Amino acid sequence: MAVCEQGYLCVVCGGEVEEIADSGLYLRYVLGEVKAEQLDRMPEHHIRCEPSLAQFIVVEGFEPVVVTEGPFAKAGLDPDFVAEEERRVTRGFLRLQELSAKGLSIWEYPLED
Ligand SMILES: [Zn+2]
Repeated sequence: MAVCEQGYLCVVCGGEVEEIADSGLYLRYVLGEVKAEQLDRMPEHHIRCEPSLAQFIVVEGFEPVVVTEGPFAKAGLDPDFVAEEERRVTRGFLRLQELSAKGLSIWEYPLED
């Protein structure tokens, strides 16, 4: 998927993922969980439509996503794991917003570590 292409639909809610900044797939790419060559093959979804990951984004301006039940509910997870995930996922989210806003190449997206 090239940066300029639009029209990818969220597999969760069916709505269009209009901005890379809203893309859960690109967030996972920034986090190093999805490879660049997989981006056009994997299902797209909004960041907010994947609560098990979105719940770890803790930053001003992002309305918190709360998972209240099930194995991925933050309240039931190890506090150290939660703290580390919040650090990791929030950093990736901010990176995605920054790069999206600047219109940089996706090849510059992934975090170093
Ligand atoms: Zn969605």
